[in-house]
Amino acid sequence: MMTIKKPVFSRIPLHCLPLLLLLSTTPLLANQSGDPDLLQRYLKQCPVADGFDFPVGKPNAKKYYNAQKFGRNFHLGDDWNGIGGGNTDLGDPVYAIANGIVVSARIEPFKWGKVIRIIHNIGTKSKPRYVESVYAHLQHFKTKEGAKVRRGQLIGTIGTANGAYKAHLHLEIRSRINMPIGTGYSKITTGYLDPTRFIRENRPKHRRRKVRRSRK
Ligand SMILES: [Zn+2]
Repeated sequence: MMTIKKPVFSRIPLHCLPLLLLLSTTPLLANQSGDPDLLQRYLKQCPVADGFDFPVGKPNAKKYYNAQKFGRNFHLGDDWNGIGGGNTDLGDPVYAIANGIVVSARIEPFKWGKVIRIIHNIGTKSKPRYVESVYAHLQHFKTKEGAKVRRGQLIGTIGTANGAYKAHLHLEIRSRINMPIGTGYSKITTGYLDPTRFIRENRPKHRRRKVRRSRK
């Protein structure tokens, strides 16, 4: 059973509400494509996720470390780096963390570089619930908008956002889909989940069994 933390609206200061309303009512895909039904069409095609893996060192982030965890410095994601340091991970494979549909694969402004956004159904076919994963600063795209992807499928390679950073993967997981690309850092975390915590709590069934066996 997949769990997802509900946004805690009571904690949000009143002066943030206009911004939140704007964020929550801006249909990003429809705005960019001019097609108001595009997101709904993608959601209809979105496969059910059978669990989540890590986006690098598949499936458990082997030989990678999280250099800037969710919440540190108001970071809205995780920064995955190879243990070799520097740019040793440049060009390494980035994998889809779960089954889903690629809703965007494009260059974003403000030093985001190449970004892939994938929507995942964590409910059932008849009762869907969605989360979105965001993979940023990529060197190359290995998938494209509209593609259905499987957990563990190669979707891109680790990059530097065109030299803006040392090579790493910035990964976000959002409980609210189709928000604007955002800033990567914010005190307001509504609509964002702790990626590592979410992945750990939602591993595929066979991996959960494996973990239990290995503890005995
Ligand atoms: Zn980051």
